[in-house]
Amino acid sequence: MNFSKKKITAAFTVELCPKCNALKKRKFLDGDTLFSTSAKCTSCGEITIIEKIFGETLDE
Ligand SMILES: [Zn+2]
Repeated sequence: MNFSKKKITAAFTVELCPKCNALKKRKFLDGDTLFSTSAKCTSCGEITIIEKIFGETLDE
């Protein structure tokens, strides 16, 4: 068996702006909750809503 490749599971948060529908993917932060409000939209300044939280397996 070959264990030379390390797999990492990273969590991501997707923020959706309700005004301009911009989607932004960023690293998951402690306290992120689905459908709660998050940071301001970088395009229009509206408060974004957490649309999705998911994990991704990455090769290091
Ligand atoms: Zn926006």
